[in-house]
Amino acid sequence: MADPAGKPKVAFYWCASCGGCEEAVVDLAEDILKVVDAVDIAFWPVALDFKRADVEALEDGALAACFINGAIRTSEQEEMAHLLRRKSGVLVAFGSCAHLGGIPGLANLFDREAILDRVYRTAPTVDNDDGTRPQVRAETPEGRLTLPEFSDTVRTLDQTVEVDYYLPGCPPPVGLIVDAVTAILEGRLPPRGSVLAPDVALCSECPRKTTKPERLLLKELRRPHEVLMDPETCLLAQGLLCLGPATRGGCGAPCVSANMPCTGCLGPTSRVRDYGAKALSALASVVDSNDEAEIAAVMAQVADPVGTFYRYSLPASLLRRRARRHAPAGGGVSS
Ligand code: SF4
Ligand code: SF4
Repeated sequence: MADPAGKPKVAFYWCASCGGCEEAVVDLAEDILKVVDAVDIAFWPVALDFKRADVEALEDGALAACFINGAIRTSEQEEMAHLLRRKSGVLVAFGSCAHLGGIPGLANLFDREAILDRVYRTAPTVDNDDGTRPQVRAETPEGRLTLPEFSDTVRTLDQTVEVDYYLPGCPPPVGLIVDAVTAILEGRLPPRGSVLAPDVALCSECPRKTTKPERLLLKELRRPHEVLMDPETCLLAQGLLCLGPATRGGCGAPCVSANMPCTGCLGPTSRVRDYGAKALSALASVVDSNDEAEIAAVMAQVADPVGTFYRYSLPASLLRRRARRHAPAGGGVSS
């Protein structure tokens, strides 16, 4: 697990992600020098010129730790996850997409065919009269060309390989990254399977928490552009849909401090199985009405329910994806 100089080997890899998690590593600023000083970076293709063959050449378990960000969408990502799992002592799901499916996981509202049809045929900017689509295999005079297979469903990292730890956030906050790397280097890790962040709701560390009423009741929900926000009062108390009560703390509440309601990127605490269901029930419990139509009217003010409650966690949820339409016996189509 260590190179000749005694430094543990570490790898970083990205799958279906936006690159923000890689930025978070760079955001370590001068702390990154301490990391680089303490470890031997054996694979980090987004920043340094490593090849897959470099990983394949390592002995199994040679990497002390590997941090994978991004969800799993293609056959190449799945192969790399298996390869890095085999080569790593500790595998960390880094960021919301690897942890819970993340924003790319919202693609589970559609199936593979619908996505390819939109991208290569019906999108307004597409000019593709022949209906050409990328092929996973093409024979050319120069030889065979291959592309990864695009799967039907986005998966989390732990729906693909065994994961040892989770670093939550979109992207993970710098403080949590530093704590996690230090814990790994010092061998002070919590039980396997832990999320490396405090197991309390964000409200407990929010600078506005003293203004959150003991019993909160709302008649209407408002969106940030509709409100002149008080910079100190609890956002939920101002009628803004802040998901802090359902979300794990550890980020230091940067969004809430900047007048931006929490959107839930750190996911749930350990006591919650399904983040979206928890967030929905937290909201339902503060609607000030017993009248069904009035409650429905308040809930209808949530502009994009799936994108709000499952923004970061649809693949990890009990739902996982939208049900496929299928033809029942005897004809017809149901969903
Ligand atoms: S609901 Fe939001 S603004 Fe209010 S205390 Fe919790 S995290 Fe802070
Ligand atoms: S306040 Fe919410 S959305 Fe912002 S970083 Fe923290 S958990 Fe993520």
